[in-house]
Amino acid sequence: MARYTGAVCKMCRREGKKLFLKGDRCYTNKCSIDRRNYAPGQHGQGRKKASEYGLQLRAKQQARRFYGISESQFHKYFLMAERKQGVTGFNLLRICESRLDNIVYLLGFAGSRAEARQLVNHGHFLVNGAKVDIPSYLCKEGDLVAVKKKSLDSDKFKALIETNEKRAVSPWLDLKRDTAEGKIISLPERDQIEAPVEEHLIVEFYSK
Ligand code: SF4
Repeated sequence: MARYTGAVCKMCRREGKKLFLKGDRCYTNKCSIDRRNYAPGQHGQGRKKASEYGLQLRAKQQARRFYGISESQFHKYFLMAERKQGVTGFNLLRICESRLDNIVYLLGFAGSRAEARQLVNHGHFLVNGAKVDIPSYLCKEGDLVAVKKKSLDSDKFKALIETNEKRAVSPWLDLKRDTAEGKIISLPERDQIEAPVEEHLIVEFYSK
């Protein structure tokens, strides 16, 4: 699957907001949004009023970039969200939140969602006791996500967990720091989802 490998801060500058793609750096004064809050490129500083379509497109891109999801996968999630009962935009965000790489990041086992994706790919995590190395694996209420014992003993993981300890854990997750495992108490409510997007615009984008 093709994945964006360019400068990630450019994605935040394109969207005009922090998407927190670089871990610790996002919270320092080295953040590009704090230093150059305009779109990248030659015409980045030119003012342009976005059309209705432009706003919808940006909302969709922001969500995709925030979670690090490809266009085709994101569209599949939208179709899944449409088939579920309830509000489609909220369903969509809940699906994105329940991805294993997102949960690994929220539990503080990785500094960013990109790092979480890589660690999951390398087989460092168990879900309900079984190894899962698919970052897009969708977790459910009651699932237990844990760092593999062998991985936990490595200096790299100890340092990773120590670095991310200061990050608050989302209230819909129950983290046991001593055993490095987290349970999904329930899927998040809208006010527990940090994605800086207006999901109704995404629904409008795909509903054309
Ligand atoms: Fe870069 Fe993070 Fe700032 Fe985004 S929020 S511009 S990824 S440092």
